[in-house]
Amino acid sequence: MNHHPTLIKNYGPPAFNAVRGQGVYLYDDADNEYLDFGSGIAVTSVGHSHPKWVAAMHTQAATLTHCSNLYGIPGQQKLADRLVAKAGPGRTLFCNSGAEANEALIKLARLHGKKLSGEEGKRFTVVAAKNAFHGRTFGGMGATPQEKIQGGFRPMLEGFKFGELNNIESFDQLVDDSVAAVFIESIQGEGGLFPAESSFLQELRALCTERGALLMLDEVQCGIGRSGHFFAFEASGVQPDAIGMAKGLGAGFPIGAIWVSEPYAALFQPGSHGTTFGGSPLACAAANATLDIIEEEQLIQQVAANSPAWHAQLQKLAQKYPELIAGIRGAGYMVGLVLKPEGLNLSITAAAREKKLLVVPAGNNVVRLLPALIATPAQLSESVEILDAIFANTEA
Ligand SMILES: *Cc1c(COP(=O)(O)O)cnc(C)c1O
Repeated sequence: MNHHPTLIKNYGPPAFNAVRGQGVYLYDDADNEYLDFGSGIAVTSVGHSHPKWVAAMHTQAATLTHCSNLYGIPGQQKLADRLVAKAGPGRTLFCNSGAEANEALIKLARLHGKKLSGEEGKRFTVVAAKNAFHGRTFGGMGATPQEKIQGGFRPMLEGFKFGELNNIESFDQLVDDSVAAVFIESIQGEGGLFPAESSFLQELRALCTERGALLMLDEVQCGIGRSGHFFAFEASGVQPDAIGMAKGLGAGFPIGAIWVSEPYAALFQPGSHGTTFGGSPLACAAANATLDIIEEEQLIQQVAANSPAWHAQLQKLAQKYPELIAGIRGAGYMVGLVLKPEGLNLSITAAAREKKLLVVPAGNNVVRLLPALIATPAQLSESVEILDAIFANTEA
């Protein structure tokens, strides 16, 4: 398809017009049915148009959609209670997207550094990871040291340094008394599905505690059940000081959030930060409905139970096509198929779409599989069968 003439060509030309979704299926304007293993980039966590989610949104839209944070919002208070119950003693603040959540975390780091050093502008460095992705705002871009993200937009926001994920020595060298926070994705998504190892997160936790830096985890993509835990970092047993969330939280309605542990939550005071739309009644109804569905349908347990067999099928696929597939990475319903021939991830993504399977490319030659948490073992197997048929017709 061509670009629409009145839309800025900010994205590549679309493959089709999407008009309808139902469960793990997406439909185009010719009513073709696609098995959607992209989920709007890890967003539609309970599937498209889940009846309970739709009913909650109808009711809330007919009651109150927006009132601003000048007033208390009961749905927001309820959602905050639920996120604190998951993350630990602390407080939450709502926004509209992943980049905004991360922006708030970077502001938190600066307030923390100011308090520690007693002076603004002295201790403000955030140490992130080289292969990270934290969003497209100036804060998020600053923490995302990729030429394809930063190029054309310099000068960047200052105050970022970068270590190697899963290399504790590289962080050990960087975290000095100029550093306010360490900021890591528990599982790198856009960068190519690189999980932070449990031992690395544990060592990072100890390092941050010792040096007074906050440990902030970006769970925007890997959080809200996708990994088989509510938060992906739970697998490591580590307790972070702050968490960023978004994508899967509203299951298709924009909402982001940060959780900050009890001692640091007080760094934000009235006037520190703000947003007109963040945490609106409608957005919180979407997130509360999403959490209700995840709990009622035990979706996190389902992801944990279903993923080993699916991962094994994908491993077998990698063994069947050793010239094409290097292996798989990830956790739960967040899996990367790591390909060998340069650029193959783009042609496999297109070929999958032709066979009515939607996947998303990532990083350097990775195909990302991000099914909704409701995907059944049969649907997971179907994705492998479709990929098998594609690789069978692909030349090394
Ligand atoms: C998608 C993503 C973001 C940015 O979220 P937006 O909602 O697109 O602003 C930030 N961090 C991670 C890890 C992401 O995957």
